Amino acid sequence: MATNDNTNNSKSFSTSENEIRQIIGEDYAGDLEGSQLHAVVPKLDCPHLNEINEVGPDGINIQSPCLDCSNIGENWICLSCYKVYCGRFVNEHMLMHGIESNHPLVLSFADLSVWCYKCDSYIHHPALLPAKRAAHINKFGIDIHV
Ligand SMILES: [Zn+2]
Ligand SMILES: [Zn+2]
Ligand SMILES: [Zn+2]
Repeated sequence: MATNDNTNNSKSFSTSENEIRQIIGEDYAGDLEGSQLHAVVPKLDCPHLNEINEVGPDGINIQSPCLDCSNIGENWICLSCYKVYCGRFVNEHMLMHGIESNHPLVLSFADLSVWCYKCDSYIHHPALLPAKRAAHINKFGIDIHV
């Protein structure tokens, strides 16, 4: 019965993928998948979530300038002290803040993703939702679609 599986033409892609795996070797294919996983898939838990604080009554203003160089737009906000600094494509002032203050979690104004410096990974967690919502409301004028 299982031999009938190959009659479906839509299987042709996976066949060629298998051929590529045979050519480049399973180990190399494994590395490739591993690096993609590291870059794209956020962690669903983070041991540093207890270091964040609640969003203040004024919410989050995504037009806030970097406190060090006054860059505006696509900055990051620290989820421990809610100071705003620029990212690595500007002057890396948020990275400096993370090192100096030891504050681990920062929210991107560009795509509202949260990065943990100590985990060296993007983080997805319900505890981050209030800050994401505050930034989303400020950015788009509407609440986040959960
Ligand atoms: Zn800056
Ligand atoms: Zn901070
Ligand atoms: Zn972490």
